[in-house]
Amino acid sequence: MLSDVKIVLVGTTHPGNIGAVARAMKNMNMSQLCLVAPKIFPSADATARASGADDVLAGAMVCQTLQEAIADCRIVFGASARSRTISWPEMTPKECAEEIFVRRPGHRAAIVFGREHSGLTNEELDLCRYLVHIPCNPKFSSLNLAAAVQVVCYELFVAAGIDDRNAIGDKGEHPLATSAQMESFYAHLYQTLIDTGYLQVEQSKSTMRRLRRIYNRAQLDTKEVDMLRGILRMTQGEHRN
Ligand code: SAH
Repeated sequence: MLSDVKIVLVGTTHPGNIGAVARAMKNMNMSQLCLVAPKIFPSADATARASGADDVLAGAMVCQTLQEAIADCRIVFGASARSRTISWPEMTPKECAEEIFVRRPGHRAAIVFGREHSGLTNEELDLCRYLVHIPCNPKFSSLNLAAAVQVVCYELFVAAGIDDRNAIGDKGEHPLATSAQMESFYAHLYQTLIDTGYLQVEQSKSTMRRLRRIYNRAQLDTKEVDMLRGILRMTQGEHRN
């Protein structure tokens, strides 16, 4: 359902863009908006640009960190105008919408959009499982924030229609782990790798980023994360003995 999908805006500078995003979302029957450390909010500019989507603005959740915003989400996409040096698995908005509504129906998802001037940092993208890129002129690939949200929400709206025609349900399997569960797992993994001497603090950043890529590809469910945490606990115990 469209209400399972959260649009997250990180560090938005212009409040007018927040209003335009609310409008773009309401046009596509979406309402879950989350603002991470917006520069100015609430604001008359945001309300003016929302043009009647005031309810979406009023219902917006404001957080200080991206971790907080996506803690309850099981699938997280980072929207990026650029390709990155370390490759994140990349999808088009259509593929992203199909992943959410056709392949993973019933899973809470977030799509994260970056700052107008600098986009998302690599550390923020580390929290995302996939990258979503809107194909466009490679020499002029940065869309206005609300325009980017509009394109993605349109594809979500179309795919949600397909979802309505399909039976919703997870066929008795375990749901994917939430972002909060994955972050606790990475913290546990990091500590274990340090304790066992595999990892030195100085080179930990790039190794941890590579490990995230591996586990992201595996699309772990809650039961699998529990199992891996159990293995880490035993490994730490062994090491201490
Ligand atoms: N100058 C920034 C782009 C900022 S545009 C940069 O180079 O990264 C603001 C946000 O809109 C981006 O962070 C991204 O989330 C979204 N966006 C803009 N163009 C996009 C595109 N072609 N594909 C996916 N997201 C895009």
